[in-house]
Amino acid sequence: MSQILNFQEALELFDPQKTPLHELGLRADALRKELCGETVFFNVNAHLNPTNVCQYRCALCAFSTDRGTKRAYRMTMDEMLAKAEEAARANCSELHIVSAVDPELPYAWYVDQVRTIHQAFPQLQIKAFTAVEIAWMAEISGKSIAEVLMELRLAGLMTLPGGGAEILVDEVRKVICAKKPMSETWLEVHRTAHKLGIPSTATILYGHIETPEQRVEHLMKLRELQAETGGFMALIPLAFHPHSTPLFEGGTVSNRKTSAEDDLRMIAASRIILHNFPHIKAYWISLGIQTAQIALAYGASDLDGTVRQEKIHHDAGSKTPECLSVEEIQALIREAGRVPVERDSIYRPRNAQGMG
Ligand code: SF4
Repeated sequence: MSQILNFQEALELFDPQKTPLHELGLRADALRKELCGETVFFNVNAHLNPTNVCQYRCALCAFSTDRGTKRAYRMTMDEMLAKAEEAARANCSELHIVSAVDPELPYAWYVDQVRTIHQAFPQLQIKAFTAVEIAWMAEISGKSIAEVLMELRLAGLMTLPGGGAEILVDEVRKVICAKKPMSETWLEVHRTAHKLGIPSTATILYGHIETPEQRVEHLMKLRELQAETGGFMALIPLAFHPHSTPLFEGGTVSNRKTSAEDDLRMIAASRIILHNFPHIKAYWISLGIQTAQIALAYGASDLDGTVRQEKIHHDAGSKTPECLSVEEIQALIREAGRVPVERDSIYRPRNAQGMG
């Protein structure tokens, strides 16, 4: 049975002396089974990152750059449409759009890309813009967060992704992403979205400078917001990849990635602490395929998707393939003894073909 853990009990889940990994896994797996049986969800999706020029240049980020550098790019609307067409041809149900925050781009640039892609390819469900981008749009347009979200929804936005949460503790944010909005803004964007009936996901970026206490604080803030709104569909724990980030290049962190023990502990602890979240996602791009598969026995009930054209984690040194086929994802899930179900952006089974 699910239990609402207090701070101290939650913290003990991150202590290998107090909670051995196999015991943690068994608890998380029992809870996962109670919540969603043998089903493991995945979707067929593609990512679209229209620009990497960012004013914030977070120390955690290997993706962004300054305008005028060799790496800088900005897609035209035709290029975005070509990517969306490629996704539609590949039978994707979801297009996940996130960018960097380029102050040269007007508010209309964001709304137009959603509207244009939605009109051209209505079969693609649009999951778009981190809370950081939404807050920026409110700032440059002079509109409220609610007005921005309503306008985006009218243009065709269906859900919000969970990016930009990093660690929802400002003391940590001031080191890893000092210039972008702090925790309360991230929470406020998601709170507003949920109240407007726009569901979202949440993330936690772990394995850099944060302490176990700060991981717990982050998870508790999400749990509290979920108790208030019920709008989160899943948590996606993201293992930090230090390669090419200013945090590594400036010597704040080593080049060591998280261990499999830490990854599985993060998944399992999240499953137990976030008793009110329907799903914990094993994002294979960040975890690696083998660890993501094992995570299905540690509380995860979603493997994300086929993920065409992912850039953000690959720029940070992720060695996973750029894309998995539906057959490969189904095989990974079946090998783990579970039943693969292809879902859409809001966890509805997409068609009978993906069901088993
Ligand atoms: S993490 Fe996001 S906001 Fe921060 S620099 Fe990278 S693209 Fe910009």
